[in-house]
Amino acid sequence: MYDRFNRQITYLRISVTDRCDLRCTYCMPEKGVVAKRHQDILSYEKMVEVAREAIALGIKKIRLTGGEPLVRKGVLFLVEQLKKLPGLEELTLTTNGVMLDKMARLLKQAGIDRINISLDTLDPEKYKKLTRIGDIKHVLRGIDATIEAGFQNTKINMVLIPGFNDDDVQSMQAFCREKGFTLQRINHYSLVDIDSINRNYTAERPLECSECNRIRLTADGRLKACLFSDLEIPLDFNNLRESLIQAIQSKPESGTCNFNRQIWQIGG
Ligand code: SAM
Ligand code: SF4
Repeated sequence: MYDRFNRQITYLRISVTDRCDLRCTYCMPEKGVVAKRHQDILSYEKMVEVAREAIALGIKKIRLTGGEPLVRKGVLFLVEQLKKLPGLEELTLTTNGVMLDKMARLLKQAGIDRINISLDTLDPEKYKKLTRIGDIKHVLRGIDATIEAGFQNTKINMVLIPGFNDDDVQSMQAFCREKGFTLQRINHYSLVDIDSINRNYTAERPLECSECNRIRLTADGRLKACLFSDLEIPLDFNNLRESLIQAIQSKPESGTCNFNRQIWQIGG
């Protein structure tokens, strides 16, 4: 389906959970967050219902994100159910990689086609500082498990933080070459102002608004057509098609600011 500005919407990002096992400084507050109660989070069955209707409207690619998607119990069930949906061309995942050591093979078997792993530096001290509680060894093990599981076209998401890790780009590029990955650099941003996107670097993300082909589903069941907007469309399970059409039609020509959600609640 096309939106009001002739952009074809083919990509749905599902935030599986707003919980996370890291506390990245650019994403989460230090003291953590009050996570939604289980009963306020969409069940996997409901996420699949939304996905089915979205595919009927032209969605071809779905990405699972979060919070950290792999910390939600039973996520493999969601992957299996989504994979069965006719018309879905690609099912992908963005993860901090901490749990990939245990889960990469299972994710492959369940039907994930491709993985993006977030890693901003190879320096253990900097990694610790950035994630507040992370140990880089876990991600590195996860990365190797991803290769062993047979995943192809894996990307590393690297958020560029001026003055902190811009000097890590070269080592990250070398690392990606060695592993057969692609480095995807992301300009740092704050959701409260689209002009905060640091465009000093020629990073691959975020996309320009004119190229945006996405809508997003939050873990608590809201459709967001733009990351940089407060606008949210609630889901009507008696008429999901209409909710999705409304969301796509509500997509602004370009984003401005988003005060009602944090990045960890939408999934970037
Ligand atoms: N927990 C998973 C992870 O870290 O990959 C998935 C969710 S995370 C919110 C999705 C992506 O958003 C990650 O690649 C992360 O680096 C990126 N991200 C988070 N905060 C950001 C910010 N302030 N600016 C740019 N990218 C950001
Ligand atoms: Fe968690 Fe991902 Fe946000 Fe880091 S970027 S705090 S891993 S959701």
